[in-house]
Amino acid sequence: MRILTWLQATSDQLHIGNYFGAVKPMIELAEKFKDAEIFLFLAIMHSFNNIQDPVALRKNAINVLKLYAACGADLNRFMIFNPADVPGHAQLNRVLSCITNMWFMERMHTYKEALDKGKTKEINIWVFCYPILMAADILLYDTDLVPVGKDQKQHLEFARDIAMKFNNAFGETFKIPKPYIQEDVGLIIGIDGRKMSKSYNNYIWLLDDEKTILKRVKQIPTSALTVEEPKNPDECNVYKICKLFLTPEEDETLRKRYQAGGLSYKDAKEYTYEKIIALVQPIQEKYAKISDQDIIDLLAKNAKIVNKIATKKIEDVYKKIGFSL
Ligand code: AMP
Repeated sequence: MRILTWLQATSDQLHIGNYFGAVKPMIELAEKFKDAEIFLFLAIMHSFNNIQDPVALRKNAINVLKLYAACGADLNRFMIFNPADVPGHAQLNRVLSCITNMWFMERMHTYKEALDKGKTKEINIWVFCYPILMAADILLYDTDLVPVGKDQKQHLEFARDIAMKFNNAFGETFKIPKPYIQEDVGLIIGIDGRKMSKSYNNYIWLLDDEKTILKRVKQIPTSALTVEEPKNPDECNVYKICKLFLTPEEDETLRKRYQAGGLSYKDAKEYTYEKIIALVQPIQEKYAKISDQDIIDLLAKNAKIVNKIATKKIEDVYKKIGFSL
């Protein structure tokens, strides 16, 4: 079985929302599907839509991979590659574009959201065509399973539809991929209670130093309840962040302390700070030991392997549609 997933390269940092919302689930996925091949590509061609700065694009891509490795993703377990090293992505994208109707893309919610934000003039062609590239990324490798958040489900449905349309028209060519929805991946809040996001300045980076992390934790707003008063942990942003780091037993104990009264927000924040440091310190130590060259060498090695698979698929497609004379 082959699973295909991808990493965004929209920043050269990862925050704890990315860790719990993307990195950890990916590591758990590899543990769950022990015998599966896991293809993991850098969504660098997709990021070019927003980041048209070659230095930043390169730095983001390399750093994000270093961070994934530092977080415990075994780079030998994942087939990590850069689709820009594999011409098949652009080739298949071209072919699929010709059999995609405009109205199909007009229904896509990413495009509709961009329209709703009133960005009619700024939207580039790529925002409109993004699901076609995604379909090419997926179909090129005979992917069985694609882990997707609920927001990406529609794109996968499109990949399935276009694969069936092609197969019906030109003969059995593409495997129909199935979605794997990771239901238990929740939204991680930032220090202001909104979704943790690099656009809100409410994040804690995995590479932040101790002083910065302490400052950020101290900034989490709390209620005016006194130390003695019992508190509802589910209404407290300190608890909501802290619980991410806790074992079920630790969680149970902390909840009881909140409910019993006598727990100060200062102590809750101190505890949260310690838990965050316990997670990020080993990540930072590992990160310091991985060089950019390690990543570049790995990508070059893997490009050869995936190119063989992609080329075979493109040859088949070209033959079926009449491009190979
Ligand atoms: P981004 O760089 O914001 O596109 O995010 C990269 C990955 O991290 C995506 O898979 C997101 O779903 C995930 N992610 C980002 N922010 C959060 C958050 N606050 N909570 C959970 N997951 C997140």
